Amino acid sequence: KDFRNNVKPNWCPGCGDFSVQAAIQRAAANAGLEPENLAIVSGIGCSGRISGYINCYGFHGIHGRALPIAQGLKLANRDLTVIASGGDGDGFAIGMGHTIHAIRRNVNITYIVMDNQIYGLTKGQTSPRSAFGFKTKSTPEGSVESPLSPLEIAMAAGATFVAQSFSSNLKQLTELIEQGIKHEGFAFINVFSPCVTFNKINTYDWFKENIVDLAEFEDYDPSNRVMAMSKIMETNGLLTGLIYQDTSRKSYEDLVPGFKKEPLVNQDIRLTEEDFEELMVEFR
Ligand code: SF4
Repeated sequence: KDFRNNVKPNWCPGCGDFSVQAAIQRAAANAGLEPENLAIVSGIGCSGRISGYINCYGFHGIHGRALPIAQGLKLANRDLTVIASGGDGDGFAIGMGHTIHAIRRNVNITYIVMDNQIYGLTKGQTSPRSAFGFKTKSTPEGSVESPLSPLEIAMAAGATFVAQSFSSNLKQLTELIEQGIKHEGFAFINVFSPCVTFNKINTYDWFKENIVDLAEFEDYDPSNRVMAMSKIMETNGLLTGLIYQDTSRKSYEDLVPGFKKEPLVNQDIRLTEEDFEELMVEFR
């Protein structure tokens, strides 16, 4: 299926987000989805534009709120495949409360973060992922805060699927997104997606020199939670690949009876007059 539309992205030439767009389109096709069965919800930021660049349902939400919208969409119609996406500022600053709770809730959606360690849309300020000492217009003397580790946070929040990739590795990124889509639960995928205009430190070359591919470790077992956490810490969060997957836990909608039965959109949830009267009796 063709998930391309005729909207021309207005990202800067070379922006890492182009590859994320291509990877989502390829992964959706590889997973056998139809455009009418896929919805992409995004937050605010350069990355937020992605929901308008893919041929499927798209919802460009508000800052840090892609996840509540995406979860609501999935719970209303669990037959839809839902992808939430945004940047590191969107998901790990204003949206961090939602990120942690969505991870532990385990609704069956895929969350893709385009992590460029800076705020690009607002022209280059320090983000929660910027390194200590990182100089921007908002931290001219260098950031004095430690960057947060999204992988450690996802693991600590009880994630059932944690992966990380790099915009330059389209093959790996596509495979991980497809695996995330097929995972029965919340799939968290962090993507190093360089901002070529404002981040002159964490460039494509910088990532190529510093990231560690999990494929290098023959005995790595992504079902081993302790091994996953150790490897994240050993590599300072710079590893790529499928880091952790727990297939034993049921998704939120498989556990809650109202969602389990069938999609809410197919259920008659209107109150009859009798139901209403009954309800009122409880409040008298
Ligand atoms: Fe991409 Fe940075 Fe340009 Fe935004 S400002 S489109 S993140 S390169």
